[in-house]
This record gives sequence, C-alpha cells and structure tokens, in this order.
Amino acid sequence: MRPERIRRFFRIILPLLYQANLLDQGWLPVYFLGTEYEKILMPPRVHLSAADSFHVMAKPIGPVCNLDCTYCYYLEKEKLFPKGENFRMKPEVLESYIRQYIESQNSPEITFAWQGGEPTLLGVEYFQKVVELEKKYAGGRRVHNALQTNGTKLDREWCRFFREHGFLVGLSLDGPRSLHDTYRVDKGGKPTFERVMHGLSLLKKHRVDFNTLTVINASNVKHALKVYDFLRETGSGFLQFIPLVERQPTGPNAPLAPPPEDGQPAMPVTRWSVPAEAYGDFLITIFDQWVRRDVGKVFVQLFDVSLGIWSGAGAGLCVFQEDCGRALAIEHNGDLFSCDHFVYPKYHLGNILNASLGDLVNSERQTAFGQAKSRLLPKYCRECDVRFACNGECPKHRFIKTPDGEEGLNYLCPAYKKFFRHVDPLMKRMTALLHSGRAPAEIMRLIRE
Ligand code: SF4
Ligand code: SF4
Repeated sequence: MRPERIRRFFRIILPLLYQANLLDQGWLPVYFLGTEYEKILMPPRVHLSAADSFHVMAKPIGPVCNLDCTYCYYLEKEKLFPKGENFRMKPEVLESYIRQYIESQNSPEITFAWQGGEPTLLGVEYFQKVVELEKKYAGGRRVHNALQTNGTKLDREWCRFFREHGFLVGLSLDGPRSLHDTYRVDKGGKPTFERVMHGLSLLKKHRVDFNTLTVINASNVKHALKVYDFLRETGSGFLQFIPLVERQPTGPNAPLAPPPEDGQPAMPVTRWSVPAEAYGDFLITIFDQWVRRDVGKVFVQLFDVSLGIWSGAGAGLCVFQEDCGRALAIEHNGDLFSCDHFVYPKYHLGNILNASLGDLVNSERQTAFGQAKSRLLPKYCRECDVRFACNGECPKHRFIKTPDGEEGLNYLCPAYKKFFRHVDPLMKRMTALLHSGRAPAEIMRLIRE
C-alpha cells in the first residue's frame, strides 16, 4: 500500500472503530507497529477520549436495494414499514440525525457510516447535502464518512465525489466471479460480478480509499485461498470476512428467524449459511498463508483483532468484546434500533425526532441489551480456554446447546475454538516481538528460519 493511502485510510478507520467503542484507548492496528508503516500512520499511539462514544449505522434508504442477494438479511425489513412507505430519509430526519450524532459524540473526530439497502440509489446530490449538513454542525471537529456499497452503481461522478470528500468506500465482493455470483445477483437473477469489478476499477482509477467486505457463505468457504488471493490482487489492503449465519424456520421464502430467545424452538440454518467447522478451516487456511507472506502488508480484520487481544490492546470488534450495545442502527424514518442485527420491533429504542439520540443510546434498555452479552454467557463458555478472545461471539448466533444441554452456545463455536487455538502459538510469538519493541512482521522471517 502507498504511504499516503495508508495514512488516509487510518485517519478514517481508527475514529470509526473508536467511536464504536471497539477499541481500547491507545489501540492501533498492532501488526503495523514497528514496521515501516508505523511512522507514516500517526504518533505511536492514538489517544482519543471515548467515554460515551458510540457508533450508528445509518440506513438513509432503508432496505431498498437494486440487487436481490439470496442471503440478504435486510431486504425483508421492508415488511416492518407500512405499504407504500417512501424509504428515502427525509430532510428533517437527516438534519436531525447529523446534528445529534455530532453533538452527542465527545471525540475530536466523527465518522458517519452509511449503509442500506444500497445508499448510492439516493444519488450523489443526496450525499452532497449530507456533506453540507456535516460542515454546518461540525463545530470545528473533523468529520469522516464511510459508505458501504454493492458497487454496481458506481460511476465517474460518484468516484469524484468520494475522492473530493474523502469517503472510505466499503465494497461487497465475495470472491472471484463464480463465487461472487453464487448469491450476489440482481432483481432479475442476473450475475453482478462484472458490474462490481467495473466499480472497483473506477474506485482505483479515481484513487478512492476502499476496502472489501466478503460474506463467507456455504459456497466460498470451500475456497479459502482462491478468495484470499483474489481479494489481495484486487488491491484491497483491508479485508473483512463476515460469516453468514441465518435461520429460517419454515420454507425457502419464509422470513428469517428473529434473534435467539429463551424457549424458542430449534430451527435449521439456511442452506447458504456457513457451516461452523468449515468457517474455522477457512480462517486457518488464510491465516497460515498470511502469516508467512503478508503480515504488515495486508490488513485482515480478524487477524489484526486477534493480535490486539493477545497483545493486551483489547478486542477491536464488538463481537469479541465482553459486552456490546454501542453499535446501533438508524432507519430512514429516524427509528433507532439496538444493533444492525437486531432491527426488530422488540429492539426499537425510539425515534430521534421525538427523543434525544444520546438519551436513547444511554437508556437503561440499551445498556441492558449490551450487558446481556456477558450475563447470558453459558458455563461452557465461561470455562473455555479461548473465552478471553471469543467471549461467546455475537448474541445473534447463540442458538445451539452446549454439550451438557445449556441453551445459548454460539453456532460458530467450533470455528472460533479451532481458529483461536490454532493461532495461539504464533500470536504469542508476535506479541513477544511487539513487547520487545520489534515488528510483528518479523514473524515471517522467524517462521522461515
Ligand atoms: S449484537 Fe452482535 S453485532 Fe450487535 S453490537 Fe452486539 S456483538 Fe456486535
Ligand atoms: S470458543 Fe465456543 S465455548 Fe469458547 S467462548 Fe467461544 S463460543 Fe464459547
């Protein structure tokens, strides 16, 4: 990665993670420490005041999308709203959200995250208004934007806009053509790979900062190195893998199951969900390649987060923290929900047009939601040797039973047990390097010796 690109990337990503309460004070992507990249990132440690900070994923176009990905969990949210609903976030909601979000954060840098649905369907003019409003309310603070897109609507105008306003673009890409097109199709069932790659080439041409988000599903999970090498070759310097886990109580067209609750009957996962063991193998295969060749060059979110945990810097992702509740979701009409994965009436906290965003985030209900993560951890997890890293992962996935019959074990348990145990010796060695002031990237040479 070019130095300037790294610097710009981290100017955006660090505050974003920090606001989400995803970083402990002083955290920095640890495998860059001691490498040539550390000097160009920023002072050795980033110190921002984070008390009361939180992160909101905004859905300015609700669940509306031009694609019809088989596995999408958000398209069906349309049913939560009245028939004929206009899903475009109205000017008064947009302005209130931007003002309140900035006012309620106490960090010097503010990052907005725009998602959908597909936010680019709103058009460039809509986001020009967004940027104007951010300037109006910034009050001297730096404001950044991250936008997640399927990439099919990107053109020269969008890329110029992103570049001019320093947007970080997250591009959904599930691997090379055949793997990407397995589930990522448009409304007519047509493949989308070609259009996404065109969007990616425009992002590169216009030097827009981007990263890739890859949903690991029943299909691409069998091709770990194919996926990794492909993403690496696209020029994505930051790779996020999201395991796909959804349950569907009845037939293929039935709604997806709501979050797990006590007394809920057992339900099968969808056919496109990733098998847990296979997900563990996927991660291990890529880790073994990465640790020999790419440490300090390619940023794989889970590996970096793991090194953060092992080195004592804390978990950089909500799913591996003891508690959660500081990463919320706002719908187009101003409705605030506990988390992007909990957009259900039961987790509706209120509407920002008639309640303060800060009060809703700090409400007893939301605090209880976040603390339930550790409170409901089964005994099996509490006694687990990799609990310090896993913490029972996301509550959304806690729907299987422990070997002794206790409810609330995470479906992905076999994956994380396998992965965290596998990386333990090398994480310890990289941590030792870090603690002695050396670069974790030296691990590549040590392995070869
Ligand atoms: S429910 Fe899951 S995704 Fe949401 S904040 Fe908690 S750990 Fe994170
Ligand atoms: S690896 Fe399994 S048992 Fe261990 S903390 Fe994670 S979910 Fe619980």
